[in-house]
Amino acid sequence: MNYDVLVVGAGFAGCTLAQKFAEFGKKVLIIDKRAHIGGNMYEEKRANNVNVHKYGPHIFHTNYEEVFNYLKKFTGFYFYEHRVIGYIDGKYVPIPFNFKSLELLFEEKKSLEIKNKLLNVYKNMDKVSILELLNSDDEVIKKFGEYVYDKVFVHYTAKQWNIPIEEVDKSVINRVPVILGYDDRYFQDKYQFMPKNGYNEIFNNMLNNKNITIKLNTDSKEVINIDIEKKNILVYGEKFDGKVIYTGPLDELLNYKYGPLPYRSLNLVFEDRLENYYQPMSVVNYPNDNKFTRITEFKYLSNQIVKNNTTILKEYPLTYDYMNKEHVPYYAIFNERNLNLYNKYCYCLKDISNFYLCGRLAEYKYYNMDAVIKRALDLFEEIKGEK
Ligand SMILES: Cc1cc2nc3c(=O)[nH]c(=O)nc-3n(C[C@H](O)[C@H](O)[C@H](O)COP(=O)(O)OP(=O)(O)OC[C@H]3O[C@@H](n4cnc5c(N)ncnc54)[C@H](O)[C@@H]3O)c2cc1C
Repeated sequence: MNYDVLVVGAGFAGCTLAQKFAEFGKKVLIIDKRAHIGGNMYEEKRANNVNVHKYGPHIFHTNYEEVFNYLKKFTGFYFYEHRVIGYIDGKYVPIPFNFKSLELLFEEKKSLEIKNKLLNVYKNMDKVSILELLNSDDEVIKKFGEYVYDKVFVHYTAKQWNIPIEEVDKSVINRVPVILGYDDRYFQDKYQFMPKNGYNEIFNNMLNNKNITIKLNTDSKEVINIDIEKKNILVYGEKFDGKVIYTGPLDELLNYKYGPLPYRSLNLVFEDRLENYYQPMSVVNYPNDNKFTRITEFKYLSNQIVKNNTTILKEYPLTYDYMNKEHVPYYAIFNERNLNLYNKYCYCLKDISNFYLCGRLAEYKYYNMDAVIKRALDLFEEIKGEK
């Protein structure tokens, strides 16, 4: 094969590595089993002309200046600070829970008491995790923690993960803060922007290099064969000594020989509507009511003007079935058993020195977009000079 690098998967992990190696003068072949590049950030136009994110809403935010500067080579950005409201006890309130949410849901005297306690106990802090509130010695704070846990977290999380709340990894619970003030932004990162012309343009520009060949509708199974005993990789039936970067699921690559790695999936239901706007904000969470977790209205994310038409997306959590070709593995389910299983798969590949794993599927972990780009940039620096 006349390539130096083979990249499997054209999401941010694969495209960043393909782009960096091509810029470095290497010949790169990038394949994806889907009919498009862009991975889960892919956008498409509905019949009503509204642009949507086909695999769920994606908002860019980061504290990594390096990642922001890297992406600026491929797109312009417009300033966008994401705000979310939740439908709780018949009211729309800011999420994450902040002082405004408190005032909307508690009567004046009680909300003042809680606010004062929080400000006293968590002096000089902008936010506090829900776990910390639950573990507080102060009765008022503990009770308030239980309220937020119950109203914002328990049912949302139960819907999302479909496991008893006690089995949810602490890192997931820790992601839910209470903001100690009126900052109603969903993220507090330094850089919060959306790509001016959408995500597809970024990927097209990243791969627009004469050193890169793209093959779509191509599953790695048709291309790669790993010979674990001989410790080598066959590409199109021939031994390949270049680098192989794999960003797909590891269990699938190794024919599920130890069983499937569990994921949560989503049933994404788009609805085109004949009205200017459906809801007051881009995202409304439904922690308690309804079987869906949230509704996204895409026109708010893109600033697109389409008169009297809008498209919304309802997300229904789903158990991932690896045999069902319609299912997408969205969220790795972290627990000791699953991580051990993942490590067992990794162990099989440990002696194959020209094979690298990168990305949310290949590494079986949750990455935000910026974190996966950072990981790919770091991996490139690590391996670019290796023979
Ligand atoms: C619902 C949802 C919402 C999210 N929202 C945000 C957000 O708002 N902000 C944010 O920063 N992050 C968000 N994320 C995270 C973001 O999606 C990930 O960081 C990103 O997808 C990781 O990129 P990746 O390249 O690792 O994976 P992917 O984008 O999934 O790309 C992997 C690619 O590999 C291909 N592939 C897999 N197996 C094979 C194979 N065998 N052969 C060939 N090709 C293969 C797939 O088709 C896919 O195109 C969200 C995630 C989810 C699930």
